[in-house]
Order: sequence, then C-alpha cells, then structure tokens
Amino acid sequence: MSIAEFSLIERYFTRQVVGNDSTKLSIGDDCALLSLPEGYELAVTTDTMVENVHFFADANPELLGHKLLAVNLSDLASMGAKPVSVLLALTLPTVDEIWLAAFSKGFLSLAELHLVDLIGGDTTSGPLTLTVQAMGLVPKGKALLRSSAKPGDFIYLTGSLGDAGLGLKIKQGYSCSNPEAALQRFNKPNPQINAGMALLDIANACIDISDGLTADLGHILERSHVGACLDWDKLPLADAVVDYINDTGDWAMPLVAGDDYELCFTVSPEKASRLTINCTQIGVIESTLGLRLYKSGNLQPLNSKGYEHFS
Ligand code: ADP
Ligand code: MG
Repeated sequence: MSIAEFSLIERYFTRQVVGNDSTKLSIGDDCALLSLPEGYELAVTTDTMVENVHFFADANPELLGHKLLAVNLSDLASMGAKPVSVLLALTLPTVDEIWLAAFSKGFLSLAELHLVDLIGGDTTSGPLTLTVQAMGLVPKGKALLRSSAKPGDFIYLTGSLGDAGLGLKIKQGYSCSNPEAALQRFNKPNPQINAGMALLDIANACIDISDGLTADLGHILERSHVGACLDWDKLPLADAVVDYINDTGDWAMPLVAGDDYELCFTVSPEKASRLTINCTQIGVIESTLGLRLYKSGNLQPLNSKGYEHFS
C-alpha cells in the first residue's frame, strides 16, 4: 500500500474512539485483535456490493456507506448477535475525496450509532466494489438459526412490510402523494439489532428480509424441513403501501419485494406472551411442506419467489 492510500485510510476511516470492549487493537497493524467475553461466540458475516449490480454509479455515496453497513448488521441482527466490529474492503477506480468523505460519513455514522468499531480492511484499485465483514457476539449456543422452526410456531414480522419495495417503485417512476417514508426505508434501512437480541431465548428461528418475505421465509422452511401458512390480511402494511395496492392491484408486492431488512421469526405458542418487541403475527409453521397463502380466506397460488441472483 502506498503512503497516499495509508493517509486516505487515516483521513477517512480511522477513529480514535473505541466503541466497545472487544476491540483490543484496531487499524494500523497487520491484523486487528478482538477479545471474546467468557460464554460468547463470534457471529461472522460478509456482504459485497458491486457497482452496476447492487447500485448505480451515481448512487449517493453517504447512503451507500449506510446501506453497505446496514445490510451486514442486519445479518447479525437476524442471529440475535450484538455487533462489535467490522472490516471494510474497498476497491476503488480512482481516489475521489468527495466521494470518500461522504461514503465514510454514512458508514461511520451508522457504526457509531451501534458502537461498532471499524478495525481494519483493505484498499485496492479496480472496478468499484465494496465489501464488509461484520462480527458480533452471541451467548454460546443461543444464536437464532434458520433451521429451528417447529410445526405449530407462530410466524412474526417486526415493523412493516413492503415500504422499501414501494420506495423502489417510486424511484422507478411510480408517483404517490406521500413518498418520503417509503424512500427513506429503501435508501436508509435500519438493521433490527435490538429486536434480534430481544428474541434470544424466545424465538426458534429467525431471518432478515433482504430478498422478500416469501423468498426469505422460504429459507427458514427449507432449512427447518417444515411448511407454513400465511394470512395476507394480517400483513403489517403502511398506509402508502395499502394505497399503492389499491391503485395498482399489485397485492403481491409486499410479499416479494426485498430490502425491508425487518426480521421474520418463529415462536412457539407457549412463549408468545414473552415477546416485548413491536411485531405482528402473520402465520403459522406447519409440518406439511410448502408455503400456503390465504387472502380473504381463499388459498392463493404463489409463484413469485422474490428476487434471486443469477435467475
Ligand atoms: P497489509 O498490506 O498488511 O494488508 P495494508 O497496508 O493493506 O496492510 O493496511 C494497513 C492497515 O490499514 C491495516 O491495519 C488494515 O487493516 C487497514 N486498512 C486498509 N484498508 C482499510 C479500509 N478500507 N478501511 C479500514 N482499514 C483499512
Ligand atoms: Mg492489505
């Protein structure tokens, strides 16, 4: 790495303040050092965003920095982990200081909000590619898995569904009278970290909704070898999403649109009264495989599986 690249990291990505006790050594040496408290495991995840695949060249860099970190923290949230630190690998076509300042502001503001330390990374030149590895702590043996849903479990969602999907429709030209909240959800997803941690010892299975409810709940069903029945009429929908459906007839949008980053989780009925977070029951896990959707009491054919890469 050249002097110029190192000073770039110093200028935009190095913070003196350490957010949490796990960080023993941060940016500057060959490796960072992390310590794990007694009784905890490290949850580790990584996600990459590539220009023209996940975002366009003219994307707002501050929002991009936020979203890159948010999608990684959302994966930790879905396991019930408390995020502690992240690594950032940047491949940049040029050193654009205005872009870097905005990107690091979006990234580090969200990191600071959740007391997450940026402890290292890599900087190379090439087509714009952004990769984060995020690490979090979870009490030993307690992580919320996709594979632990049981027949009879209630299925819940945090927050509301389809807002980010509506935000995308608005960006693509759909016009509605109150677009701000939907655009905000699309541009600045909010990882459900506190909700994930509050579900430890309560939820059986959990996933975050990145590719759409039917696709992501589908992962729980597959990994747990179970099926599910969903009630469309119970879906938590914002008024703007209801208006969009009434306007277009596209009632499946909240089921298949991605980017909401809410949590979908299952809880056995005996534990349902222990739930303290804002959530809505939308269905039930069943032993019969497959996903069945009821709308106004009628079984609906489900053929759309949400957004899938390479398909
Ligand atoms: P090495 O050559 O040993 O891989 P580098 O010269 O790539 O080390 O990096 C020097 C230091 O800067 C390391 O501590 C590394 O983790 C950190 N670093 C490099 N790029 C980034 C980045 N984009 N964000 C945060 N830290 C970074
Ligand atoms: Mg390196």
